[in-house]
Amino acid sequence: MKAPAPDAQNSRNGGRVRAAERDILALGIAAAAIIMFVGTGSAVVPSVIRAFAGYGIGPDSALVNALVLNVALIIFGWRRYNELSSEVAERRRAEQQARTLAETDPLTGTLNRRSFGLALHDLIANSDQGSSNAAIMMIDLDNFKQVNDRRGHGIGDLILVECAQRIAAAVPTGALVSRVGGDEFACAMSFDPARPEAIDTVAASLVEAISQPIAVQGFKVEITASIGITRADVLCHAQDGQIDAQHMLDMADVAMYHAKRQGRNSYFWFEEFMADELRFRERIEAGMRSGLEKGEFVPYYERQIDVATGQLTGFEMLARWDSPEFGLVLPDLFIPIAEEVGLITELSEQLIAAALEDARQWAPHLTLAVNISPVQLRDQWFSQRLLKLLVSANFPPGRLEIEITESCVHEDIVQVCSLIASLRNQGVRVSLDDFGTGFNSLGQLSQLNFDRIKIDRSFVSDIDRSEDNAAIVESIAMLGKGLGLPITAEGIESHAVLEQLRGYGELRGQGYLYGKPSSASDTRAWLDELGLLGTAGDADIGKDQPQIADQPQGGDTQRAAQG
Ligand code: C2E
Ligand code: CA
Ligand code: CA
Repeated sequence: MKAPAPDAQNSRNGGRVRAAERDILALGIAAAAIIMFVGTGSAVVPSVIRAFAGYGIGPDSALVNALVLNVALIIFGWRRYNELSSEVAERRRAEQQARTLAETDPLTGTLNRRSFGLALHDLIANSDQGSSNAAIMMIDLDNFKQVNDRRGHGIGDLILVECAQRIAAAVPTGALVSRVGGDEFACAMSFDPARPEAIDTVAASLVEAISQPIAVQGFKVEITASIGITRADVLCHAQDGQIDAQHMLDMADVAMYHAKRQGRNSYFWFEEFMADELRFRERIEAGMRSGLEKGEFVPYYERQIDVATGQLTGFEMLARWDSPEFGLVLPDLFIPIAEEVGLITELSEQLIAAALEDARQWAPHLTLAVNISPVQLRDQWFSQRLLKLLVSANFPPGRLEIEITESCVHEDIVQVCSLIASLRNQGVRVSLDDFGTGFNSLGQLSQLNFDRIKIDRSFVSDIDRSEDNAAIVESIAMLGKGLGLPITAEGIESHAVLEQLRGYGELRGQGYLYGKPSSASDTRAWLDELGLLGTAGDADIGKDQPQIADQPQGGDTQRAAQG
């Protein structure tokens, strides 16, 4: 709320003073009128009665006038009193409204950050550490930004209101509920320290309540929340008796980020190790920013083989971070961070540009597959950006394959459909990665026009031991044959698995059996040995290539610190 201008405030104060003066004057006049009425009335009324009864000549006209004036003054005083009462009531209402506005979030009606902080202070101060304690929960909506971007701010606002109502309904009576940031809520409540599980129950019901689909303007939106919890007595212990509301909020925030890292849609109590985790994560993030500038992110290549003939068909590029501080870091650690902090596009484009340069030196029949994050697919200019990279590297689009994971398809099927169409129009092929992990329906599969399906390695790597997985892989292979869709099996680690796969028909394969991912220079040296280096003009190179030995070789055996 804006503060009023000084002039307006002066004139408002002046008005109030004048009104008060008028009220005192009106009160004085009414009191004087009543005293005079008693005086004049006691003289005039008996003489009027006597005149009516025929005993006298009636009152003096001056006295009658004075009496009438008295009555008028009393009526004036009475009316002023009534006006004054309603003015006071009106002023009280306005003050209450101003206080409500100053204390609550106008969108959701929950407490705002400032008033929550004050109320929290009181709650902590009043909670006697023996019989009652205070707990704080930080609740952050997991995928709100995407929903807001895709559906618009109007629907985003309605979702926030609905979530606020669900939170208020799930917490015990008397709990404080506040929207402390865009899509971040906080709750505070007292509890019996002997029964902290009561707080677990509240947190679990919050997770459950928020995850229920929300129907807004004909859309069904699914939102989840990550919750971090902390309790005053734990921090009291950690902080030499000092309980600071801000410190509690910070620790609940740390626990909330831990819940995010653990896969979201869950709650965690704060523990000291989480703060270390956060500090480590901040170091990683800072290292990534400088690493991007210094070109520390490099492509590694994993071989892709025709299972039947044993011949090399191409490579999948896998990102590695060659960090002077952390060693060779795997993408499972840094890709999610890059996605979260908005570095993924820059990172991916840097890697793809380097990979296109590397692949230009390979035999022209060898393909290059690159992984694309769901965050990049949301960018409506994605296929244009990719085309620009292809043009500046002078790389034939037909040699490039984009791998998108099954989970992307759920996000927005219409958008993904048009993206796939536009990539295929440019001649780029599109594979569905990690198939089997994301519960896609067969209907969606045929709708999406993929060029290839990659069966997730969790199904493939133990088909020699697990009959269930063997049945799954075999039926996906048959499905591919039926739909005319080529299939790749990931994660081939043993000869037994390879032999079994050979019985399932035409497949491509990847896995440690054929070799671990290796650096650009190692890959180049290996291709050189096989006579598989060449330029785009050397159409014959690799036509009679040797079978690739099914033996693991070199690669990134070095494993980086993962946290
Ligand atoms: P993915 O696309 O499923 O890649 C295959 C992963 O499986 C790679 O892990 C690879 O090293 C590993 N792998 C290959 N063969 C075997 C095997 O026989 N056994 C086992 N146990 N593992 C095998 P990596 O390189 O750690 O990559 C992990 C994930 O990171 C990738 O999974 C991919 O989803 C993502 N990723 C990698 N590079 C990029 C990138 O440039 N951009 C994006 N957005 N994601 C990337
Ligand atoms: Ca992949
Ligand atoms: Ca995969």
